[in-house]
Amino acid sequence: MTKTAVVTGAARGIGLATTKLFLAEGRRVIMVDNDEAELAKAADGLTGATPLPCDVSDPQGVNLLARAVMDAVGRVDALVNNAGLADFGPIEQTDFERWRAVMATNLDGVFLMSQALTPALKATKGAIVNIASISALRASTLRVAYGTSKAGVAHLTQQQAVELGEHGIRANCVCPGPVRTKLAMAVHTQDIIDAYHDAIPLNRYGQETEVAEAIVWLCSDKASFVTGQRLAVDGGFEATGIGLP
Ligand code: NAD
Repeated sequence: MTKTAVVTGAARGIGLATTKLFLAEGRRVIMVDNDEAELAKAADGLTGATPLPCDVSDPQGVNLLARAVMDAVGRVDALVNNAGLADFGPIEQTDFERWRAVMATNLDGVFLMSQALTPALKATKGAIVNIASISALRASTLRVAYGTSKAGVAHLTQQQAVELGEHGIRANCVCPGPVRTKLAMAVHTQDIIDAYHDAIPLNRYGQETEVAEAIVWLCSDKASFVTGQRLAVDGGFEATGIGLP
């Protein structure tokens, strides 16, 4: 029996790196993304991967997706809620539409996907890994919507761990530091990049694969007694106590 992982936001960045690591260890992967064209391109040639386009913030779409996953592979051993949007701005310059869009993908999406796949995860005593951010752990002047959504994800993870533990489901949260993906590079100005380089003890941005390794480990049996945790994969940034640039 081949174990199956569902990875959202799998068309690029951290989600695609996670997909490739799962495939390398012999899992099947359901790749989920709302960018249909990029998803098809990413999945092309990846043996064991099945692309299923879906907007994780759409309740109906997510329910249809859950059914399609069970039709395609019949089981879910791991769910990685990685799809995300970034928006940097202070309170007075964040319009409500933008706030709602960030909450819809970053927080509603994690809730909806987890709810829809909980029956499948109960059947396998599976694992959930939610991708938050170091922005979940620290407030900053620029991240009113993004940071709040990610703090919600970190708390939702603990809710899941506490509630679903009796079914053998583990839930953990990975809080990446900065990684040079499309999402980050759309909002990281040169000033932010320079400040991160100085503030991070390892003096560099992380790589997609470094975050993916932590995700795949948390989904594995090697982490069988780890649940309800927030793991910062951030080159030591959180330990410095320095504010986010
Ligand atoms: P990315 O932009 O490379 O990938 C995000 C993917 O999510 C894209 O393929 C996008 O199409 C998909 N997506 C967006 N909205 C979606 C929706 N509603 N439904 C389905 N798919 C959707 O970004 P990334 O940096 O790889 O981000 C992955 C996760 O890591 C995000 O949750 C992000 O907040 C988090 N994160 C990233 C960084 C960083 O510096 N890159 C730092 C901390 C946390």
